[in-house]
Amino acid sequence: MTQQIKLSANTRLFEVGAESGAILLWVSTCSHVNCECRRATVVAARERSHLLQGLEALNCALRGNGSQGQVAAPDGAVLFEIDIDSAFPMSLNSADGELPLSDPRVLQVVEQIGGELLDQFGVLWQQGKGRANPEVEPIRTATLPGWKPGEMVAWQDAYEAVRRDIYLQADRVFEAEEWYCVQADCDCHEVTVEFQELTVPGDLPACAVEISADGAARISERHVGKSLAEALWSRFCLRHPRYRERFEARYPKMKAYGERLLTHYTAKHRPKVWVPTSKRKKRR
Ligand SMILES: [Zn+2]
Ligand SMILES: [Zn+2]
Repeated sequence: MTQQIKLSANTRLFEVGAESGAILLWVSTCSHVNCECRRATVVAARERSHLLQGLEALNCALRGNGSQGQVAAPDGAVLFEIDIDSAFPMSLNSADGELPLSDPRVLQVVEQIGGELLDQFGVLWQQGKGRANPEVEPIRTATLPGWKPGEMVAWQDAYEAVRRDIYLQADRVFEAEEWYCVQADCDCHEVTVEFQELTVPGDLPACAVEISADGAARISERHVGKSLAEALWSRFCLRHPRYRERFEARYPKMKAYGERLLTHYTAKHRPKVWVPTSKRKKRR
């Protein structure tokens, strides 16, 4: 089959799952400029011909020939939507808050969609709305309320992240935040991953994992039990199997941001120059 697949600013082809045989993914993120939904439409198949049939079925559905959520996918292809931040699969056009899709054929595809690919979906989401990749340049303002030299800084405080790293675990929703050492003269390469529970108010981390330069991970439970903390960390490792490379790539970028942060902090906290009273302007 030689039919061309048309790709636009918010659409791209990917290939995943080399071990079990490659799966082709056609991914299209929401292109409405003012819509902040995090959905991407996915058509997946092992054969290119099946992918094309899947795309045809999708087009039919978009033209209104399929009832919502009940689009008939051809054999060998699956059609679904995915939340870019949490990787929850959903039926096409399903309502927000609906339970994740449990079709085993869909889950098999979702299993192959790791953090690196989700990040690429995030970049595509930005592109589709005519925006640049926000992770290239740090946030313009180099101030963080309450920050003091020596304290770690979260990636999303320095860069507008392309996606939030969200996990559904034991019916609770958690967000992983990566904290980096930003001290210019420190070479510790330490990163802390904090899991923040989004389903409870307040901003105390549910648990945290400190990863040292040699890769050793130390889990501290804080506000959740040991098993939940361990489960969250293993989910993180599964989603980001190359997490050490991820941290290493982000480390110098965080140091660069830290330098700006410190410059700003030093300027703001410069000690007041003492002026002898005799030199002060006399009030008349
Ligand atoms: Zn949208
Ligand atoms: Zn350090």
